[in-house]
Amino acid sequence: MDNQKRILVVEDERDIAELVVHYLQREGYRASQAADGRTALSRAESELPDLLILDLMLPGMDGLEVCRRLRQSHRTADMPIIMLTAKTEESDKIVGLEMGADDYIAKPFSPKELVARVKSLFRRLDRNEEPTPAYKYGPLVLDRGRFEVTDDGREVSLTAKEFGLLEALLNGRGRVLTRDYLLNTVWGYDYYGSTRTVDVHIRHLREKIPLLAEAIVTIKNIGYKLRESP
Ligand code: CA
Repeated sequence: MDNQKRILVVEDERDIAELVVHYLQREGYRASQAADGRTALSRAESELPDLLILDLMLPGMDGLEVCRRLRQSHRTADMPIIMLTAKTEESDKIVGLEMGADDYIAKPFSPKELVARVKSLFRRLDRNEEPTPAYKYGPLVLDRGRFEVTDDGREVSLTAKEFGLLEALLNGRGRVLTRDYLLNTVWGYDYYGSTRTVDVHIRHLREKIPLLAEAIVTIKNIGYKLRESP
């Protein structure tokens, strides 16, 4: 199955590593092990596992350092990490979490407890991965995930800025949005254009999507408002 989660277990104590891998595999996860920090780091970067179970005490580069480096790298900054440690002091827990671990398990732990924590972490992560919203406005649908706008099922060809502007209008429907607000939201604060740019793009939107000719209301000298409903 391709949707099996891949877990890399980083632990130099072989008995513990093998036990953990065994329990995870029994739960259907694709688990494998690495015995030191450098191997863990290079495998995490090349294989991009769905979860790293990372022991704090490792020969050479320790778990905190591995965690810190993963968080610094663009590719692995969001990789879920559960830290393992023999130390039980609260300060170590705080250090681990500050370094960016998502959860923390103190040794000795039961494999069952570990599996339960892994499952709960994946559940939490899956909940956060909600699909990107699609905006509906009468027959008009803006789908952010697909970067697509359809009018009564027909695709409308928009430029990136027109798309952003329409999204901003849909997001703030019923409210008066100033030209400055729209300029900053769509073009960014470091854009040196004038608010005329907004007017030009609004005109294009009204031309491309007839429904918007009426629905986008010009608020003289201030900006624009998309009617609450078309
Ligand atoms: Ca260890």
